[in-house]
Amino acid sequence: MVITQIKCYQAGLPLHEGSYKWSGGNSVEVFDSTVVAVHTDEGVTGYGEICPLGAAYLPAYAAGARTGIAELAPQLIGHDPTQLALINQAMDSAMRGHPYVKSAIDVACWDILGKVCGQPVAALLGGRFGESFALYRAISQEAPEQMARMVGRYRSEGYTKFQLKVGGDPDVDIERIRLASKELQRGDVLVADANTGWTQHQAIRVADAVRDVDVYIEQPCMRYEECLAVREHTNRPFILDEVIDDIGAVLRGYEDRAMDVVNLKISKVGGLTKARQIRDLCVSLGIAMTIEDTWGGDIVTAAIAHLAHSTPPRFLFSSTDFNSYVTVSIADGAPQRDGGRLAAPPRPGLGFTPRMEVLGKPVYTS
Ligand code: MG
Repeated sequence: MVITQIKCYQAGLPLHEGSYKWSGGNSVEVFDSTVVAVHTDEGVTGYGEICPLGAAYLPAYAAGARTGIAELAPQLIGHDPTQLALINQAMDSAMRGHPYVKSAIDVACWDILGKVCGQPVAALLGGRFGESFALYRAISQEAPEQMARMVGRYRSEGYTKFQLKVGGDPDVDIERIRLASKELQRGDVLVADANTGWTQHQAIRVADAVRDVDVYIEQPCMRYEECLAVREHTNRPFILDEVIDDIGAVLRGYEDRAMDVVNLKISKVGGLTKARQIRDLCVSLGIAMTIEDTWGGDIVTAAIAHLAHSTPPRFLFSSTDFNSYVTVSIADGAPQRDGGRLAAPPRPGLGFTPRMEVLGKPVYTS
């Protein structure tokens, strides 16, 4: 089997809540998502999706994904999409870095492999642990009272894990964490994710002020060394996200005892092939993970679900169902949240059918 053509589609994904806000005054109203279709000579087509969280979150942006795929795609024609290591080697030889550009192509190739084998991708990634897995809900950065209300609202919908978008004014953030924690019930999990927004001294102030609150601190500062300084100061459990962008970063963090949990985003590390390597390493090292992506719709949610569902529950801290945040569905049969939990589709490949009437005409054809 060989790749004969690669196409890109663009989808705008508006948010049910109107906007999503995080540190640094960043916000998104409509996510700009790119769907990749990888066609083969045997008539099997695989799909992947890449949706950066705007341009200011990671070194990635939506138009860059499409430009990068247009650069890469012609060099993949004639390769066997079911040979994932070879496909990844071909992508890495043709383009240095830019993991987010490669992610949707890699995911589409996993979809093809699953369809060819007649197996769900979760089975190929190790198997299905249990019936479903727990999700977290991201709470957009708003006034403290509003964020506490949203925790209560999403709690009533079945979520038990909540991630507050902080990383703003430290005094307001302390109030955000304290008020939100009052909404929790026994067994709930609260994370304060600063998304690199605090300076080191601000982060230490906030961490000190919430020493008596049952809360995890996530990625307080921009640089790894700053985060490590905060980690060494605080008694709160600690999550690293933005700085964990490859396997070397996980190993460095492990050696330094720099985190208790990592946030593993599929497109941040270049696709399911590399995310699985990191996932398996973290399981071996005893590091729990939030398994998710930067953002996305039904196709990203399906890819997340297959990786999360095939992860031992003990090490799956939480995961995300981005398709329930957005108003547009781009695929039928994608996983749908049930309360605060999600399951990977049991069908071959990623298990969905793209809605071509929503995706429209391709914006790129190789
Ligand atoms: Mg994060």
